[in-house]
Amino acid sequence: MISDLYINGEWISTKSKIPIYDPSDDSVISHISLAGEAEINLALDAAERGFSIISKMAPRVRAEYLRKAFEMMIDEADKIATLLSKENGKVFADAKGEVLYAAEFLRWFSEEAVRITGDFRTSPSGDKRIIVTQQPVGVSLLITPWNFPAAMITRKVGPALAAGCSVIIKPASETPLTALAIVDIFHRIGLPAGIINLVMVQPAAPAVSQIMSDSRVKNLSFTGSTEVGKILLKQAADRVMRTSMELGGNAPFIVLDDADVDAAVSGAMIAKLRNGGSACTAANRIYVAKNVSKEFTTKFTKAMEAVLMAPGMEPGAQLGSSVSKSERDKISDLVDRAIEVGGKILTGGVKPAEPGAFYPPTVIEVKSDNPILSKEIFGPVAPIVTFSTDDEAITLANDTDYGLISYVYGGELRRTLRVAEAMESGMVAINRGVISDPAAPFGGYKESGIGREGGFAGITEFLETKYIGTDF
Ligand code: NAP
Repeated sequence: MISDLYINGEWISTKSKIPIYDPSDDSVISHISLAGEAEINLALDAAERGFSIISKMAPRVRAEYLRKAFEMMIDEADKIATLLSKENGKVFADAKGEVLYAAEFLRWFSEEAVRITGDFRTSPSGDKRIIVTQQPVGVSLLITPWNFPAAMITRKVGPALAAGCSVIIKPASETPLTALAIVDIFHRIGLPAGIINLVMVQPAAPAVSQIMSDSRVKNLSFTGSTEVGKILLKQAADRVMRTSMELGGNAPFIVLDDADVDAAVSGAMIAKLRNGGSACTAANRIYVAKNVSKEFTTKFTKAMEAVLMAPGMEPGAQLGSSVSKSERDKISDLVDRAIEVGGKILTGGVKPAEPGAFYPPTVIEVKSDNPILSKEIFGPVAPIVTFSTDDEAITLANDTDYGLISYVYGGELRRTLRVAEAMESGMVAINRGVISDPAAPFGGYKESGIGREGGFAGITEFLETKYIGTDF
């Protein structure tokens, strides 16, 4: 298990270390090195050198490094998933699913590296030429959260390398081991030194400020909370730095009265419980049409009750622990407050005894003004609200500052599509509990972010557009 910083193609151990815990039993898995000012300066120097290498590398060569990394990640999926499950708490099946999904970003962007397009036109006046080309933006800082420790790394490293950018990765302090395992893959396939660098820091703010204030860093790709995203956007403004922001969510899950209720229950289970509910895409508010609400709520509650909560690596475990006790307590506080103001618990709702940061599958019936509906729950808690008309569902669903993803279950396509089109979110899932796909653009409206990752758009976050005008 690697526990060092990765700078300029070398593993660097420092005296200052922090423990990494297995949140399902509170045991210490490893101690990892922290970077100080000196190591950050080394990483900045290395990334600058790395940029001069990768920006001149042939697209086909960049593509082949990504393809090799994809293949090695698939070969080592079980090993990486085990590490991921341990440091994050999620069940092995979710961890393995994430590793395979994460690897697909490397494959997708290996295919995109050779397809960066430009434009060549005659000007409207007919006597000039307009040439438009795309160039890598430069050294990029990649900051990732703890909830998808593998996929959030590859969703950024893939397009960065494909575009010809070098990177400094700053993973979440709870889950650096998976990030280090992925960086080790690039080390072993022989990616030239300096193109990928990884620093662990604590606290995050001063170190990230040091990196962002360095004029050699041209781009920030951040995934995390809206709260931290806003802080970083303000810092980026000082240098008019390019940013991509993948921020928090508060997804509505709408069940229309002509929906297939059994399919809606299955979809809600996936949208709610994938990753233990700690997903920006997790169904956060379930809105059910009045005339199917009894059937839906009864079946959904029964399905939630049947879920096996256990340490992530235990065979058959379906719901693991949260990443830490403090994250688990945030979930528990939200539920307690929801009950105080009239929420009715149908299952769960009680914090289990120690050890481990567990919280049980919970269903709670609430009114549409319950405060839990305005917060990102990030756990296995499903508040259910009933509605009378499609327009009421649309109004309730859009009544949030977030706009990442919405789910709509319905029967008649025209009607379902009307509701889907009215959702103020960057993504809408129709009759599906999960739609994340490396080949599709992932990102949010409103305070859920700026920019897109994955799909054809993902690589453009790491490219600058250059117009060259000729005199002929
Ligand atoms: P977070 O607290 O915002 O942290 C995210 C990253 O930012 C971590 O690496 C963290 O480092 C760092 N950070 C924290 N405070 C910072 C500061 N003041 N300056 C610079 N960096 C700072 O988010 P999280 O709790 O890890 O992740 C959960 C959030 O991520 C949720 O809101 C979720 O919706 C969102 N998310 C969004 C997407 C998406 O694609 N839209 C995907 C996944 C997750 P430390 O760990 O060292 O504090």
